[in-house]
Amino acid sequence: MSDKYMCPVCGFKGLDELPYNDDKEASFEICACCGFEFGFDNDGAADKYNNFRLNWIKNGANWFLPDKKPKDWDLNKQLENLKV
Ligand SMILES: [Zn+2]
Repeated sequence: MSDKYMCPVCGFKGLDELPYNDDKEASFEICACCGFEFGFDNDGAADKYNNFRLNWIKNGANWFLPDKKPKDWDLNKQLENLKV
């Protein structure tokens, strides 16, 4: 299965697992982009996503795993993924 899931913190569509499954169990996956660890850095609360995102952007929006960063990466374009 090659489906990827979107990170609800930074909008990066590269998660191997859903951050939280139907039983609200965390994946404990770390987002390659923003470095957020689901289940460790929060419990799925939206305001924690927002705080983490704001801090991440304030600190330069650096990739947690820089070798996964696409060449044509665009932060603003990625953040638009978060708008429903
Ligand atoms: Zn992320």
